[in-house]
Amino acid sequence: MSVTSPSVKRKKKVSPAIESGSKRSVDTAEVHERIWSAIMDHSLPPETRLVEGDLCEIFGLGRTRLRQVLQRLAHERVVTLMHNRGATVSRPSVREAREVFVARRIIEAHIVEIFIKSASRRDIKRLQEHLAREEEAWRNGERRAILKLSGEFHLLLAEAAGNTILLEMMRDLVSRSSLIIAVYRSPGASPCPPDAHRELTATLEKRERTAIRLMTQHLDHVFEDLELAERIDTGVDLKSVFGARQ
Ligand SMILES: [Zn+2]
Repeated sequence: MSVTSPSVKRKKKVSPAIESGSKRSVDTAEVHERIWSAIMDHSLPPETRLVEGDLCEIFGLGRTRLRQVLQRLAHERVVTLMHNRGATVSRPSVREAREVFVARRIIEAHIVEIFIKSASRRDIKRLQEHLAREEEAWRNGERRAILKLSGEFHLLLAEAAGNTILLEMMRDLVSRSSLIIAVYRSPGASPCPPDAHRELTATLEKRERTAIRLMTQHLDHVFEDLELAERIDTGVDLKSVFGARQ
């Protein structure tokens, strides 16, 4: 089984044809990626209306396929679909942010415990390789990649733990966390600091139980860095965000 967070499946780069606004048709994965990224980097703030007609025109996509994209985003909880009112970017509440991190603290302490007991050499190698990719993204200052890879680090641990129910829960929690971090972190602040994942990996390689404490401390730090006040952002132009053809 492989990790399938909203972020992991990205294989394709955004096509230059789309950036330059040609009429080439695009696939739904690409459109999903662009909308997801625009939400995560806050180009599309919470409660932005995702007007179907505009998005179809911007991406050269039919309504049915656009709706597939919006439904996938809704399933990942980054978009909210409302009957007769279309789609908007979700706004996680302060309460939800607290609850998500309380749940992660409990589940991930358990996941780390299982990892220490039962991870294979391959699991550890995958974690090390993932950490190397994360560090490269940090060196290159790739903010979108950093946000994705930092969530995937946690999913890799969940996957290695081998409990499919916990993995499903973690996919949901990591997806929600990405949006919570995007909404509530101060501008320019980082998601998971690379030192935290490096330190965790070092203890997990040696199967040291201190990794459990490191994980809960890490999650506490991420939560404490959130600025938990409701923010209001309005007036976003979809075409300017996605660089649509005129
Ligand atoms: Zn982390």
